[in-house]
Amino acid sequence: MNGHYANGDATSNKEPSYERVQLINDEKQFMPELTPQMGRWGLQNAGFDYNIVAVFGSQSTGKSTLLNRLFGTNFDVMDETRRQQTTKGIWMCRAKGMNTMVMDVEGTDGRERGEDQDFERKSALFSLASSEVLIVNLWEHQVGLYQGANMGLLKTVFEVNLGLFGKKTADGRSQRTLLLFVIRDHIGTTPLENLKTTLTADMQKIWETLSKPSELQDRQLSDYFDLSFAALPHKVLAADKFESEVLELRKRFADKSREDCVFKPAYHKRIPADGAAFYMEGIWEQVQNNKDLDLPTQQELLAQFRCDEISTAALAEFSEQAKPQRRPIESGKVVDGLGSMMRAWRSGALSRYDRDASRYHQGVYSRKRADLVSVLDSTLSPLFLGQLKNLHKLCLVTFKTEMLEGMRGEGYNFADVVGAARERCEKRFLEGAQEASVEGTDWSYDDELGLLKEEVRGVADQCRKDETKKMVNVIERNFKKQISEPVEIALNKPESDMWDKVLSSFRSTLQKAESSYLAKAKSFDCTEEENTTSLGALRKRAWLALRAKIDEQTSDAAFLTKLRVHFEESFRYDEQGVPRVWRPGDDIDGAFKKARDQTLELIPLYSKIQPIDPSLAYTLPSETSDSLSEVDDFDFPATLIMFTETKILDLMSRFRRDADAYYVEAKRSTVSSVAQ
Ligand code: GDP
Ligand code: MG
Repeated sequence: MNGHYANGDATSNKEPSYERVQLINDEKQFMPELTPQMGRWGLQNAGFDYNIVAVFGSQSTGKSTLLNRLFGTNFDVMDETRRQQTTKGIWMCRAKGMNTMVMDVEGTDGRERGEDQDFERKSALFSLASSEVLIVNLWEHQVGLYQGANMGLLKTVFEVNLGLFGKKTADGRSQRTLLLFVIRDHIGTTPLENLKTTLTADMQKIWETLSKPSELQDRQLSDYFDLSFAALPHKVLAADKFESEVLELRKRFADKSREDCVFKPAYHKRIPADGAAFYMEGIWEQVQNNKDLDLPTQQELLAQFRCDEISTAALAEFSEQAKPQRRPIESGKVVDGLGSMMRAWRSGALSRYDRDASRYHQGVYSRKRADLVSVLDSTLSPLFLGQLKNLHKLCLVTFKTEMLEGMRGEGYNFADVVGAARERCEKRFLEGAQEASVEGTDWSYDDELGLLKEEVRGVADQCRKDETKKMVNVIERNFKKQISEPVEIALNKPESDMWDKVLSSFRSTLQKAESSYLAKAKSFDCTEEENTTSLGALRKRAWLALRAKIDEQTSDAAFLTKLRVHFEESFRYDEQGVPRVWRPGDDIDGAFKKARDQTLELIPLYSKIQPIDPSLAYTLPSETSDSLSEVDDFDFPATLIMFTETKILDLMSRFRRDADAYYVEAKRSTVSSVAQ
């Protein structure tokens, strides 16, 4: 019998009915009775002013008894003497004296009787999803027992509930529910505080091991549930105490002004009373139809439990193996054979897991295996990336060393040296990176390789620049050597085409220098731009070298010597090159003047670099900069001037003094020859 206990006048407007109604029948169908029944309960127009309470717990733990005591309802209570068979289903009743609807689940204890637990799980899920307060009813001695306290079922229900209803509601709230743990037959030797701690830790553990949808990975238990606790003494052994404590507990439901009232606005589903039946029907439909909700069988529950344990053990051993390699990698070492180690740890962990876990429910086994793989890989991946980073550094250093070695001595071909070193470097990296890779992962070393190639290119470029600089320096040195003698010879012959000679040997020497640069630059793979810069620098330095050589040849002392030599040649030697012996009557004055004036005329010739043949005139744009060294820019036209006007006058007067001395000496020599 379904037990429609009539309770007062069902049709009266003043006195609401307390008749109970079957919400879900034993065929797992949602019954159409709720809406009319709510009218009879007088709740149809309650708006939001109503609450829903449900209960969860093992069979025969006094759930119905508790509900009837708390709410004055008339749910069936198992009568030990008659062992009456109650009808499976979910029942609902209105609480006396409160706008509260109470749900009770009647069912067989599937676990004990070895029956299908589908109904038990669906009804538990329905209770959790539709109520504001879920009373979790358990014996004191069940606290801390996973199986005994139905925690496995609770975990499954949490899991499915999160998947189904875990996302935020349209108005952005998370659905919150209060889990009110009621501990039955509380003897009192273990204080409620301690039981609370144990239960809270259990809940937390259950939550952590839940498989959560990926977008809800970070959600905490506290995002969805508040936990509250109450304990009741033994109903038979401490009957009076039991009754009074139940009355105390009832106040937490009945009196909304109390601070510990279980009904908080956050728990309310915000469904107006007249829509409640429809809403609950929708929830039941989701519970019934959702594929994910082909609730795990006992086999699956067991599998989840065992696979977790096996996975944890495999992971612990794996972590132990992986740990010692972390530090060397972090400190920058390339660990030899890291890849083969990682492959061994990984496959070791998986085969341990497979060996023990594959006997369990296949779906659970492979789901947990995927979880394990992702944990293993997230441990190995930093090692892989660290190894790549260290390998990259090592390869780059080796590349530099090999380049420098290859360029030791003469006669190497720069491009060949770089090419060979680069090839070895990339090969070394690829070998190392491939060794470190682990099959079955999506790890890639492409980025690191790309980075390495880029840096190798940078190093080679820098090296080429340095080499080019060195080469330009060598060419400059050679140039200086080669230009020295021709300039000296030309400047020692003060003829009108003196500068033409200087400039034409400058030109031919520079040409040689340039072609020697270009020949070498080819093996350096220099760019057009680099060549332009280097040649510019070379020309400028060549010019400065020439100018320095000329400066040396026209320093005051050297130049005055040149003048003196020239003067002496014409004054002290005759046309045949025979030294003159002055006799009285010789025209010393005439010869002196001639020699002196001719010599003075040379000064303007030296004062400016000016060829007769204009095609020999060398020009250099004054802004030519020398990026290869830090030589300041200079004013090219100014470098053509050897002596300024003032300098010319100074040199003339100094030469005159020298010449005068010769004159006096010549005069003296005639006097002395007369005296002989
Ligand atoms: P339900 O299956 O969880 O709804 O349990 P019932 O309310 O039908 O009760 C099952 C049996 O436990 C009945 O014989 C009750 O008399 C008994 N019972 C109810 N409450 C308590 C209690 O607090 N302590 C003890 N020891 N027994 C209880
Ligand atoms: Mg019951």
